[in-house]
Amino acid sequence: MLDAVVVGAGPNGLTAAVELARRGFSVALFEAKSTVGGGARTEELTLPGFRHDPCSAAHPLGVNSPAFRALPLERYGLQWLHAGLPMAHPFPDGTAAVLSRSVAETAASFGPRDAGAYRRLVGPFLPHWDTLVRDFMSLPLTALPRDPVTLARFGLAGLPPSTWLLRRFKDERAKALFAGLVAHVIAPLNGLATGAIGLVFALAAHARGWPVPRGGSQAISDALAAYLKDLGGAVHTDYEVKRLDDLPPARAYVFDTSPTALARIAGFGDHYRGYRYGPSVFKIDYALDGPVPWTAPEARAATTVQVGASQAEISTALRAASREGRAPGRPFMITVQPGVVDPTRAPEGKQVFWAYGHVPNGWSGDLTDAMERQLERFAPGFRDRVLARAVSGPAELAAHNANYVGGDIACGAASGLQLLLRPRLSLFPYHTPHPAVFICSSATPPGPGVHGMSGHNAAKAVWRRLRQT
Ligand SMILES: Cc1cc2nc3c(=O)[nH]c(=O)nc-3n(C[C@H](O)[C@H](O)[C@H](O)COP(=O)(O)OP(=O)(O)OC[C@H]3O[C@@H](n4cnc5c(N)ncnc54)[C@H](O)[C@@H]3O)c2cc1C
Repeated sequence: MLDAVVVGAGPNGLTAAVELARRGFSVALFEAKSTVGGGARTEELTLPGFRHDPCSAAHPLGVNSPAFRALPLERYGLQWLHAGLPMAHPFPDGTAAVLSRSVAETAASFGPRDAGAYRRLVGPFLPHWDTLVRDFMSLPLTALPRDPVTLARFGLAGLPPSTWLLRRFKDERAKALFAGLVAHVIAPLNGLATGAIGLVFALAAHARGWPVPRGGSQAISDALAAYLKDLGGAVHTDYEVKRLDDLPPARAYVFDTSPTALARIAGFGDHYRGYRYGPSVFKIDYALDGPVPWTAPEARAATTVQVGASQAEISTALRAASREGRAPGRPFMITVQPGVVDPTRAPEGKQVFWAYGHVPNGWSGDLTDAMERQLERFAPGFRDRVLARAVSGPAELAAHNANYVGGDIACGAASGLQLLLRPRLSLFPYHTPHPAVFICSSATPPGPGVHGMSGHNAAKAVWRRLRQT
């Protein structure tokens, strides 16, 4: 009998398996697709030699993750590559605000009226970032806070809607950049705790940047899988689990799946009936005949570029996708250009380019034209550089990964109480109705992103049980 079986080789499933194996437990992992990685994969989606990330591409949460930082992933080939700027937010007039490693450079890019407000916003948290990120990502109860005072202070700043926090800024440069940070979880700006999201992304940039892995996001998954194998864990791919009977006997089962799939597989009936899935994205992977011709020079130096002209434009786009059930006319877009630092991703002189805009869950239209019109505002001549595109709407995303229900890349709406308390209102979110079955996907805290912390936290719950029995 195995100690633990993990279902799903996304970053959380892989991390859970590694954490258990490194504590001496026997572990086998089963993945439906032919490669490991889930939302951290790299594939030739367009033309030969162009290596695209179909899902995650930039890793502020990965490089700052307490779980990843405690694992020897560099020894297994993971190399974080940092651009001159982690992120730039260009404007139609050819200027840009930036999120730099330096607080001073970031504040200066907002202009004199907001520089001080920004420094006062992030200043108190930065010296405590390592304990804060660990405390924040271990909520609700997996570890006692190491620095409850800073955590409480962070809660006071971050728990109200981001629109409150945005009132600290007077000009559009800071407002648009910060609204864009909040939009990374696809929740309306006036939602509960959305201020915390913006703050986490900003602090992550100042602390350790927003790097891309050399060779693409697959490098994170491959490093985790290689380490797992070295620890004696077994990895089985092309193995979709439909029932618990499909799995070998084990003392614990850990699911890196959606709550809906887990309920179906384990026979939990309507245990997760109240769980809500959120909006989706429309994703385009481009093969380009050279770099994106951004007007703003800062945008040419950053790996991640946010595309949205103002807080109002970003807010309208988010509301359209998440509340009004329609695609935005002017999508807010997150784009990543790994070629700024990684020459291995495309043939010489060419580039891969990654971009998505938000659309409603299950939406079946084509956002390509709206996205490219939006890009042309900030990078005139963009369309002339396109050699090929691979397009994924909600249906394609859901087919690529069963966790993206209706194309929801967060595996559950990151809004309302469900942003913090997921998949149910519980202090033990990794537990399920069956004492030997656990859930570790991004449907559990701390939620979406490639950080492995849901897997890390769930593994703690598992090893406590294994030691008891
Ligand atoms: C387009 C897009 C862009 C993104 N950009 C970023 C980004 O830049 N940075 C970032 O940090 N995050 C990003 N994300 C989010 C990130 O990819 C996810 O939050 C993260 O991968 C979640 O990890 P996970 O382990 O919980 O689940 P997943 O990565 O979704 O992995 C789940 C795995 O379980 C497998 N599985 C599911 N059901 C079964 C079954 N029944 N049997 C066997 N296997 C099963 C799936 O095939 C999959 O491999 C993005 C996601 C998408 C789609």
